[in-house]
Amino acid sequence: MSENKKYTQVALPEGYSQPGFFATSLDKVVGLARKNSIWPLPFATSCCGIEFMATMASNYDLGRFGSERLSFSPRQADLLMVMGTIAKKMGPILQQVYEQMAEPRWVIAVGACASSGGIFDTHSVLQGIDRVIPVDVYVPGCPPRPEQILDGILKIQQLVESESLRRRNSTEYKEMLAKYGINEIGHK
Ligand code: SF4
Repeated sequence: MSENKKYTQVALPEGYSQPGFFATSLDKVVGLARKNSIWPLPFATSCCGIEFMATMASNYDLGRFGSERLSFSPRQADLLMVMGTIAKKMGPILQQVYEQMAEPRWVIAVGACASSGGIFDTHSVLQGIDRVIPVDVYVPGCPPRPEQILDGILKIQQLVESESLRRRNSTEYKEMLAKYGINEIGHK
């Protein structure tokens, strides 16, 4: 049978293999599955959202990373991608969207505005979404190029793959959420 070079096989996690069987830990199998099936929720408010559209399109094709299934319902998403300027009035809405996502959930701040307020050092703009929700990866740029957004996705994949199944139940994680006024099950 000729080799099909149109796809890349996902590498096996660390484990023990002999002819006919392969053994590894549950953490690694779950991490592998989660890493390659991330469902992003694009929370796009301005220009960085346009760069994300380019990232989804055929030239860059986010589907190559298993993330082509966007979700516009927080309940069916596990990666919140915040792209654009967030006004202070939108802060509580953004936090509500985050709370509606089931655990485990991850967050990328895409671009300068989401990361730090960007050029909008004004009374009305949130100076970084980490004032209202925890952020896992920051993507720099105004706007970031699609390659940078893909790099952010790869960084998230590394976090997802290596996360312990116990992390979300840890005291440190619950304390971190409590600082944002969010309890461990994701509701105030
Ligand atoms: S970081 Fe720059 S490109 Fe992105 S939303 Fe802000 S102003 Fe627009």
